[in-house]
Amino acid sequence: MRVIVVGGGVSGASVSMFLRKIDRKCEIIVYEKTSHTPYSKCALPLILSNKVTDPRSLTVLSRRDFAVRNIMFEVGSEVVDVDVNERILVVKSTSGIMNDKFDKLIIASGSTPVLHPKINYDLNGVFVLNNIDEALKIKKFIEEYKAEKAVIVGSGAVAIETSMALRERGMDVTIVDRGEFLLRSWLDRELSLVLEKGLREMGIKIYHNADVAGVEKLGEHSLKVCLDGGISIHADILISSIGFKPNTMLARKSGLVIGNKGGIVVDEFMRTSNRNIYAIGDCIESVNILSGIREPVMMATAALKQARIAAYHIKGLNILPYNGHVPVGSIKVGENIVLSIGLNTRACIWANLSANSVILRLPHKPRYVSNLKKITVKILYNDITGSLLGFQYIGPFNPTPLIPALTTLLKMKTTVKTLASADWAYSPELSDYWNPLVEACVKALER
Ligand SMILES: Cc1cc2nc3c(=O)[nH]c(=O)nc-3n(C[C@H](O)[C@H](O)[C@H](O)COP(=O)(O)OP(=O)(O)OC[C@H]3O[C@@H](n4cnc5c(N)ncnc54)[C@H](O)[C@@H]3O)c2cc1C
Repeated sequence: MRVIVVGGGVSGASVSMFLRKIDRKCEIIVYEKTSHTPYSKCALPLILSNKVTDPRSLTVLSRRDFAVRNIMFEVGSEVVDVDVNERILVVKSTSGIMNDKFDKLIIASGSTPVLHPKINYDLNGVFVLNNIDEALKIKKFIEEYKAEKAVIVGSGAVAIETSMALRERGMDVTIVDRGEFLLRSWLDRELSLVLEKGLREMGIKIYHNADVAGVEKLGEHSLKVCLDGGISIHADILISSIGFKPNTMLARKSGLVIGNKGGIVVDEFMRTSNRNIYAIGDCIESVNILSGIREPVMMATAALKQARIAAYHIKGLNILPYNGHVPVGSIKVGENIVLSIGLNTRACIWANLSANSVILRLPHKPRYVSNLKKITVKILYNDITGSLLGFQYIGPFNPTPLIPALTTLLKMKTTVKTLASADWAYSPELSDYWNPLVEACVKALER
């Protein structure tokens, strides 16, 4: 069997590795259009902050790692067309155009940044941050032109991480946010305001309800960013970070079914509408288990999970069907971890779910401990069934290892009543007496 993977990013590289682990014989070829083997895309902001000084250290797998596993990893090779009936791909590389035949095809083509209609991306100093080449271009520009002032357009996780990275290297940073509060796809207003306080304390400026009306070149390396309403900001650099959309060029050429949110539609084994073609990662849509709405997930963790499922199924193992996703996101802002699991109020409204909520702000340790910090949690729960719909957290503890348990609670429609009687642990050096999640659920019951 000859398996071809289009895209050598997180999902494409992983599916090839998983497949080789369980099938020593099949031929595996990965075509990657850039010159890079897989690297940690999530760490790109660290290049900007200078926390990572050698970009090669972000490489996750080298050509040798693929070669020793008998996987052909072809960089500089873009798949430009496909004939699904003949199962032939057209691949463009520096050596020209060639055809390749597959038995099974896996599309792992990722996503592309959404572009703002009022931003001229050809201007010197205007960037998007989506891959390592762009990160290096931004870094080079900042260093070469001694850029001091940055405008970040957008208010999602990548925009926030980019802002913090540039601030950490001493730049004057302004976020231009179209909405009323930051990170709206993860958080509700109250928690977003806690996050925003942290960013403002770092010295990051934020404009809300503001949108770019145009960007003009001022001097050789200077920009005037004009906002709706007449405000303008002078900057050396603008980074546009207003979201990502599934890259479905090849899927459309293959006539595959594309969903309402622009991602490739797949079944529980990551198969597309063509039984010989699988799709994984940012380019697909997946069912949000809590809302029932199909949407792109755009997280490296989801890409890894989907890669493993596709590999099993190609090998004929149906042991791990994909049953959709519970949205999860986490970032670090200053000393705090920001975590969102499940639906926020906006997502509940879109899903037509009537939700109630509880917010709690508790000390992170007993009051006699010095350097007391606060934990803020918000739970959302179905006001008819009482099942937990969402959990938002900002605090100094890192709840990352517990995320799978929390997403499972949401998947299992666990009620606030069940959680209110959960057991928890305490030790003065570790936490306060009361557990924020349990207390929020008790408060919900008291209503
Ligand atoms: C700055 C930044 C920070 C992030 N931080 C996090 C984080 O902290 N946590 C998290 O979970 N996620 C994070 N993400 C998201 C995460 O990186 C993506 O969800 C993940 O990379 C998706 O994997 P993928 O394989 O679908 O796409 P990608 O990793 O983007 O790989 C797709 C690959 O396909 C190649 N390709 C596309 N079309 C073709 C073609 N026709 N022929 C050949 N090759 C092609 C592309 O060059 C690319 O290398 C971040 C993303 C960015 C941009």
